[in-house]
Amino acid sequence: MRAMCLHGPDRALELADVAAPEQQPGSIIIDVEACGICRTDLHLLDGELPDIPYPVIPGHQIVGRVATSNEPTLGVGTRVGVPWLGYTCGTCSYCTCGRENLCDQAGFTGYTRPGGFAQQVRADARYCFALDPESSAAALAPLLCAGLIGYRALTMCGDAERIGIYGFGAAAHLLAQVLCHQRRSFYAFTRPGDTAAQQAATDLGASWAGASTAAAPRPLDAAIIFAPAGELVPLALAAVRKGGTVVCGGIHMSPIPSFSYALLWGERRLVSVANLTRADATEFLALAPRIPIRTRVETFRLDDANLAIERLRSGDVVGSAVLELE
Ligand SMILES: [Zn+2]
Ligand SMILES: [Zn+2]
Repeated sequence: MRAMCLHGPDRALELADVAAPEQQPGSIIIDVEACGICRTDLHLLDGELPDIPYPVIPGHQIVGRVATSNEPTLGVGTRVGVPWLGYTCGTCSYCTCGRENLCDQAGFTGYTRPGGFAQQVRADARYCFALDPESSAAALAPLLCAGLIGYRALTMCGDAERIGIYGFGAAAHLLAQVLCHQRRSFYAFTRPGDTAAQQAATDLGASWAGASTAAAPRPLDAAIIFAPAGELVPLALAAVRKGGTVVCGGIHMSPIPSFSYALLWGERRLVSVANLTRADATEFLALAPRIPIRTRVETFRLDDANLAIERLRSGDVVGSAVLELE
């Protein structure tokens, strides 16, 4: 089968003919229809994640059809999605207390397990989620990471009513729709001068949109940082009220500069969100069509993955970049 493979840090993906995956007990084989590209894929390409097992087939926002299966609930032809969390042990202290996202043995799609930048992928059936068979595969793909991580980050904000969003990319586009649906207000902080992102936020219902260096127009109950820029942490802490929460939503972030304790004082909380649980996926994938969340995607062919990545890196993609398989 054809796949885009990564052979080392700071290298382009290479189109290769590789052996198609074989079925194993508990797994299914999926014909990939579409696979979203995520900022985490950029960190993977840049060698910023630990212990990358080269060569890697990236891609963890997979939408496809079941090609081979022994699972009664996932028959051949079923439309499924495969997210970043691709395996957990089920027995460690994290798995048994509802925090399988922190499992020490976790497997990650498109990182420690082969991903969806390929014609086929093998997935653990426990981590495949049935999706609407009628929707466009490309439109569904961003829900599987950008949507899910944003949703998990939001759950960490509790019942916050005014929420700051730092970095208005793919995840924020989807989360904004959840926030409007839940009648919460949001404040979008973008790179100074990025009027396109500020306009996109306003179009999606932001109460305010401006530069990340600007003061929030009023104290916020919580803030979510999607941009991988550590210097946003003290800015976000300064924007939230006493008792407020700042959630870091990325897998990688540049160093956080030192800041005055006064920014954390007042029982403000600074937390990260790591991976996802199956419960997050079940909840969010049921909620998304009820809102309904509309994704904005720019599609590329599998062998144009490097072009898609360059456009994502330079901030030229509005919404999400998605590879579409023929
Ligand atoms: Zn992702
Ligand atoms: Zn575990």
